[in-house]
Amino acid sequence: MKGEVVIGLEVHAELNTESKLFCACPTQGEEEPNTRTCPVCLGHPGSKPVANKKAVEHAAKLAMALNCRLAKQVIFSRKSYFYPDLAKNYQITQYEVPIGENGSIDISGKRIRIKRLHIEEDPASMIHPGGIGKAGYVLVDYNRSGNPLAEIVTEPDIASPEEAREFLKALITLLRYLGAFDPSKNIIKADANISIKETGYKRAEIKNITGFREIEKALEYEIARQKHEGISSQETRSWDAEKGMTQLLRKKETEEDYGYIFDPDLVPIDIEREELEKKLPELPDKKRRRYTKEYRLSEDDARILAGEFSLAQIFEKAVEKTRPVLAARWIRGELMRVLNYNKIDTSEMKINQAQFISLLQLLEKKKITDATAQKILEKLAVDDIDVESYVKKEKLGAVSDLRMIEKYCREAIAENLQAVSDYKSGKDIALNFILGSVMRKSGGKADPKEVKETLKKLINL
Ligand SMILES: [Zn+2]
Repeated sequence: MKGEVVIGLEVHAELNTESKLFCACPTQGEEEPNTRTCPVCLGHPGSKPVANKKAVEHAAKLAMALNCRLAKQVIFSRKSYFYPDLAKNYQITQYEVPIGENGSIDISGKRIRIKRLHIEEDPASMIHPGGIGKAGYVLVDYNRSGNPLAEIVTEPDIASPEEAREFLKALITLLRYLGAFDPSKNIIKADANISIKETGYKRAEIKNITGFREIEKALEYEIARQKHEGISSQETRSWDAEKGMTQLLRKKETEEDYGYIFDPDLVPIDIEREELEKKLPELPDKKRRRYTKEYRLSEDDARILAGEFSLAQIFEKAVEKTRPVLAARWIRGELMRVLNYNKIDTSEMKINQAQFISLLQLLEKKKITDATAQKILEKLAVDDIDVESYVKKEKLGAVSDLRMIEKYCREAIAENLQAVSDYKSGKDIALNFILGSVMRKSGGKADPKEVKETLKKLINL
């Protein structure tokens, strides 16, 4: 049965390789337009493509990580179309035999099926000075042309914009675990098919949504638009991130219009499944199970930490030097709170791992209090500070001098006699009030447990 909203995604993830998919031109570097090009990626007649082994390996590993049926051979096809973004007049892609089929990703207890995964080359970028529709001419930059992409096509199993974002995050996590994608240099784009119940599920396709945050916005906009305006027939639309709206491009071509043929210049490449399996890293599911077993984390903590490449990375570094439960609690609780507050996505955090770990160590040795650690973490999330010298310089070390704590406690008792008598008459909560006063006096640097004990001792004398 179809839900209120039906979404399918076609995701293009740029694979992390040094050179392009079919030539030796670098994928990154020189930004001057049309400098990272050669006869192959410019489509000169007679030039011959040679497939990039690394790109094929990334894609094959991804197929396995997505639980796909892995093809025995990589076979490339030509997708013919006439457009300036492909100098050859065809794109080398996979059509008849994709490298992976029938896979899945699980998100929040729900399975999103993967229809197919294939490798293809990126077209050139087209620059419309002044914007699409207004420009009197178009510029083409072939630097990107020929970069390796993995295209991941889902079944229409996604039921909301949030699920789409969650799916993309899970996919990026897998890609990062595999080393196949580096968010600091590789781009992820998606086309989304979306239909809603109110219009009888007439489909619109939104093209070229860049980045996983934009996808949620584009889908939210399109759902509202379809509810409001309806939809006449199958439409292809574009997402304008600046204006925050989708715009009609054209009616959709069908796949057959492209006239696919096998590429005669590229021989099939055998996929060595056993060899590749040996090279597969520990993936999120396995990590999650290990975290609960080896480190005794709760199911929930393990799922969150293993489900995000950067969190798993910092957690595994931290447990080499501190208690796992402490590290998990601080990463999931405080670190994520601080990142949220600063609107930094966990996948984009640049926190200094060594400094974060030294913060945990100070905390574990009770050299700073929880309250102090929280404040330092707020600073560390946005600024690269040396935690130990910062604690010294700002005199943030915990007040562990019992005489000082006792002095503060005596003062607080003298100033809060009503609370003291309330506590004595059985109102336990009154003690927290006095505790608060001591914590203020110590500038949050006393250990609340120690203070509580001291207060009880002094009051019961
Ligand atoms: Zn080239």
